Amino acid sequence: MPAKIMEGISVAAAIKDEVAAEVAALATRGLRPGLAAVLVGSDPGSQIYVSSKVKTCGQLGLYSEKIELPETTTTEELLALVGDLNSRDEIDGILIQLPLPKHVNSALVLDNVDPAKDVDGFHRQNIGRLALNEPGLRSCTPAGIMEMLDRYEIPIKGARAVVLGRSRNVGLPMSLLLLHRNATVTICHSRTENLPAVTREADILIAAVGRMAMVDATFVKPGAVVVDVGTNQVTDAGDLERLFGDNPKKRASFEKNGSTLIGDVNPREVSEVAGYLTPVPGGVGPLTIAMLMKNTLAAMKRRRG
Ligand code: NAP
Repeated sequence: MPAKIMEGISVAAAIKDEVAAEVAALATRGLRPGLAAVLVGSDPGSQIYVSSKVKTCGQLGLYSEKIELPETTTTEELLALVGDLNSRDEIDGILIQLPLPKHVNSALVLDNVDPAKDVDGFHRQNIGRLALNEPGLRSCTPAGIMEMLDRYEIPIKGARAVVLGRSRNVGLPMSLLLLHRNATVTICHSRTENLPAVTREADILIAAVGRMAMVDATFVKPGAVVVDVGTNQVTDAGDLERLFGDNPKKRASFEKNGSTLIGDVNPREVSEVAGYLTPVPGGVGPLTIAMLMKNTLAAMKRRRG
């Protein structure tokens, strides 16, 4: 039986409805959560991400500010901006869209964001709190995945979970969130040996490597829950044929744009083995934005009482 598709997009819609309802209730008391999104340079991908985050704020009733700065912006200028945003009471969340230009000291900029306004959960203080299972702002993508697993009633306690990837924004916090829910967690990375043998032990497999369709059927235990975080572009016609066959939607998008999206999971192969699978697009991506809204609301409630 093919895998059940876990519709992140529907879970994200439910989370956004809940946030909008709370924001509306706060508005009656004259309170409004606010997000500042900082975009440096003109990377088209980053521009799309920031615009959609700001647009979602508007849809849910949050206040937002989009601060666009030229590519030549210096570390010192960004530090001054962050200091200003830290001090403004109506700003509850500060989002610095990554990557920043190479000449900017990104770590220093991120470290200077007030941890209480760090709605991306990237600040070392928030990562430390997560490691210790103390309250704090959690990274949006893994927090969204936990919401999705819960809403699909996937058992986590006692499950064998394997996280492919150990990045600061996805793999590492994902592993910690699963650990704190009493999964038995294995973290894999580029130096892991016999990768498919390790991932085949997983009841829950999270793929966050950024490698096109790397997770094939040999990586997956029959019936496993597979969450595909990856966002990769298929730009080669041979890969399109191999990965999607004659899928008309994918062919049309490839012909129109010269590329089409694929995750870290080979969807055709893995859907024949897994019990559950998230689609790309429409899986993890929408959850990330929904959780950014939820984090901004949570940051407001915590900071402004
Ligand atoms: P990243 O910072 O590049 O980290 C990738 C991780 O994968 C690293 O830990 C790396 O290991 C590991 N890795 C790379 N190649 C591997 C291989 N061949 N075998 C085993 N492990 C390997 O990427 P990221 O930020 O975590 O993002 C991962 C993917 O998720 C990307 O496609 C990104 O676009 C996507 N993403 C999607 C969303 C969303 O909302 N949908 C959000 C965030 C990220 P080492 O540590 O050993 O180098």
